[in-house]
Amino acid sequence: MKLPEKTEGPWVTSFDPLTRQWTYTVTYNVSYAEDSPFFHALGHNKLLGSECQKCRYRYATPRTVCMYCGGPTDWFELPLEGRVHSWTTCHFSGEPYLSECPFHLGLIEFDRVDTLFMTRLVGIEQPRIGMPVRACFRRKKTWSVNDVYFVKKE
Ligand SMILES: [Zn+2]
Repeated sequence: MKLPEKTEGPWVTSFDPLTRQWTYTVTYNVSYAEDSPFFHALGHNKLLGSECQKCRYRYATPRTVCMYCGGPTDWFELPLEGRVHSWTTCHFSGEPYLSECPFHLGLIEFDRVDTLFMTRLVGIEQPRIGMPVRACFRRKKTWSVNDVYFVKKE
């Protein structure tokens, strides 16, 4: 008995060093679990943060348990306006965003919130620290954190 001969791929793209090209597809089921309310809120053009019930530390991200005191958190609505705390320009990225390079990623600070929110900065040629920005939401939802991005507040 012989193994069947394959008629397609992988393709050899170089012989020295031997390099072959292989295309594969993986379907993931990603559960947001207790972070689901954050993503449901994105679907309604809202941002949710987490506030510790014990020490009142306020996170600009989903967090079930406070990292300082271990207390449980409650959801609260984040403001849709903030300021650029810091930013970077990505000239390389993971495959889904490679075609969009270069793009800016920013850390956004909000009044009365203790941590930052990482997001895309869109339509801003030269971001600067302290620049006022506001949230925008994709009309067609992807049910991911990419449903929100920030633009310069005019
Ligand atoms: Zn706490």
